[in-house]
Amino acid sequence: MKKRLLILFCCLFLTGCAAVSPLAEKETVALDTVVKIALYDSDDTALVEGCLEQIRQLEQQLSRTVEGSDIQRLNTALGQPVTVSQDTAELLSTALHYSQLTAGAFDVTVAPVVDVWDFKSGNAAPPSQERITAALQTVGYSGLTVTGDKAQLAQPNAAVDLGGIAKGYVADRCAAYLREQGVGSALIDLGGNIYALGSRDGKDWRVGIRDPEQEGALAAVVMVQDCSVVTSGTYERGFDHDGVRYHHILDPATGRPVQNGLASVTVVSENSAQGDALATACFVLGPENGLALAESLPGVEALFIAEDGTLTATSGLHYETK
Ligand code: AMP
Ligand code: MG
Repeated sequence: MKKRLLILFCCLFLTGCAAVSPLAEKETVALDTVVKIALYDSDDTALVEGCLEQIRQLEQQLSRTVEGSDIQRLNTALGQPVTVSQDTAELLSTALHYSQLTAGAFDVTVAPVVDVWDFKSGNAAPPSQERITAALQTVGYSGLTVTGDKAQLAQPNAAVDLGGIAKGYVADRCAAYLREQGVGSALIDLGGNIYALGSRDGKDWRVGIRDPEQEGALAAVVMVQDCSVVTSGTYERGFDHDGVRYHHILDPATGRPVQNGLASVTVVSENSAQGDALATACFVLGPENGLALAESLPGVEALFIAEDGTLTATSGLHYETK
């Protein structure tokens, strides 16, 4: 698992940074992935540790699998209201916002269907249609309410999954922490969910976008400053069965992995929670509707890579093909 994650991490590694090396950096495993923090205008390792501490604390609240986390308690409350932290309430509200904005292409209550597919188990066969249909009965973001510090699911068997947005939220919090501490140039990489803080010695950061078909190769490089770059791709998690790729980005309308000819969607935006939710949503919405959504939102750019290798970008994206 760890080795696979490391390979993924390398694939999304930043290119073109040879001239400038980080002054402080650390790589570790958190959020079920490889996390790397690199500072370019400070050698204060305590700030890197501070950042990692923020990540660990947020993970304790937001993870579905951590016993006693806000989300674990919400998912097992059988429809009763649950008191959650300010961070959790904020992220749940944001997730609800993007669920509504995308009419459920991104659906924060997709958890029961995610569980049926159980991609983390290493199983390599799709579940029966009966199980998918049963799980879909409890999916629907309108069943989640967040009021102040209370969150509640309308159905006892419903559950939320923040896997499509949490890394973005955590990246935003890391960026805010580092800025507060006076850092003006840093890279926060949460398993390929990247926040490029400030600039690279006054120039753009160059963030490599993985070729979805070829591990270790890049399909494009995006040029950004003070921006988040988030990619949702079929290669991240899934299995092949009878010549079909079953991956972890699920269509909440069908309960099945999305099959619309896309291999990955990258979203560039100032806010990483937004970018994370939109990368997942635009993937589900597909090459036309997803592109239209990204184009309609101010401050949002996106790159769509199709299974046949075709690249399509929003009008304002600064990128080079490889
Ligand atoms: P990402 O890599 O950001 O696209 O997120 C994928 C993860 O989000 C999956 O592993 C699931 O945990 C969850 N997920 C899958 N499909 C959806 C969806 N349509 N809406 C919200 N979350 C999803
Ligand atoms: Mg996402």
